[in-house]
Amino acid sequence: MNNFTSVIEYPVTQEVEILSDDERESYRESIKTMLKRENAALVAHYYTDPEIQKLAEETGGCVADSLEMARFGSQHQGKTLIVAGVKFMGETAKILNPEKRILMPTLEATCSLDLSCPIDEFSAFCDEHSDHTVVVYANTSAAVKARADWVVTSGIALDVVDHLEAEGKKILWAPDRHLGHYIQQQTGAEMLLWKGECIVHDEFRATALRELIKQYPDAAVLVHPESPSSVIALADVVGSTTQLISASKNLDNQQFIVATDMGIAYKMNQFSPEKEFIAAPTGGKGATCRSCAYCPWMRMNSLKLLANVMHNTENEIIIDAELAKDAMKPLQRMLDFSSAINQV
Ligand code: SF4
Repeated sequence: MNNFTSVIEYPVTQEVEILSDDERESYRESIKTMLKRENAALVAHYYTDPEIQKLAEETGGCVADSLEMARFGSQHQGKTLIVAGVKFMGETAKILNPEKRILMPTLEATCSLDLSCPIDEFSAFCDEHSDHTVVVYANTSAAVKARADWVVTSGIALDVVDHLEAEGKKILWAPDRHLGHYIQQQTGAEMLLWKGECIVHDEFRATALRELIKQYPDAAVLVHPESPSSVIALADVVGSTTQLISASKNLDNQQFIVATDMGIAYKMNQFSPEKEFIAAPTGGKGATCRSCAYCPWMRMNSLKLLANVMHNTENEIIIDAELAKDAMKPLQRMLDFSSAINQV
C-alpha cells in the first residue's frame, strides 16, 4: 500500500432541512420552471435526498449510479446538466460532455475517496510502480483520472480487473482499499492498493451487524463493497448501488439489512413498497458514528440550493481542456468495455 497518512477532516452528516409544504412546493415549482426554461436535465445519484431523486424522475432526468449518470448526461439533448451528487460526478459529466454547461447545487460536496488521493502523491506512487496498469475508481479528481489507464465504477470494476488479470497485467488500484481488497480476493489479480476509504461504508461494523442478523434472521444482507471485509463476509449479496437495488427487487425476502448510504432506500421502497429496509449498524453498542449511513457530502444537496443553481455563479464545473482530454481516455475505455460486455 502507499503511505498516504493525512487525516481527512470531514463534516458530520446534517439532518435534511425540514421544509413546510408551501416551501417545498415553491422550490419544486421553481426548479421545474428553471429546468424547462434552460432545457436542462437533473441527474441525481441514489444517495441524494429522496425529494431530489423524485424531482429528477418527474422532470425527465435520471436517478442512477455514477456510470449511468454519466451515460445519461451524454445522451441528453440539452445544453445544461444539473448534477446532484458530489464533485467528481460533476467533473465526470464535464469530461464526457465538454460542450455542455455542468452545474451543481454546491461544489463543497466532495468525497473522502477523492480527498484521500491527491494528484502529486498519487502520481509519485504511479511513477514508483511504472510496470503496473493504473486502475482508478470513478470517485477521483479529473487529474487522477488523467493519470490512469482505466477508470471504473463499482458496477464494472470486477469485470475490468478480471480482463486485465487474464492479460497478465499487474494492477495499481486507487483509492478505495476495501473495494480493492474485495476485487483482489474475487479475481486473484496482483494488485497494489492505495490507502483510501469511503467514510460512510468504512463505519459499518461486523460485530453489530451479526447482532442485527440475529434479530432479523430472515433478512437478506446487502453490502456495498466499499465496506470492510468483515462486513462483506456477512453479505448475501455484494454489489454496486444498482446491483443492490436489483437484488432488493428480485429476492423473495421481505426484510433487507442494507450496508450502504440509506438514500438508496428511496429506490428500494419505490420498487418494493411492501418490503422493509433496515440500515446496517455503523457501530457497536454505545459507539457513535459520524455518517450514520448517510454521506455528509451527498446531504449537502438540497432543494433550496437546487432552486438557486442558476443564480450561483460559483457552482459551474470548469476543467482545463487538455486535462479533460487526458481524463477522457480512461473513461472512454470503461464505456467501450461496458458496451462490449453488454453486447456479449
Ligand atoms: S458515500 Fe462515500 S464514496 Fe460516496 S460520495 Fe460519500 S464519501 Fe464518497
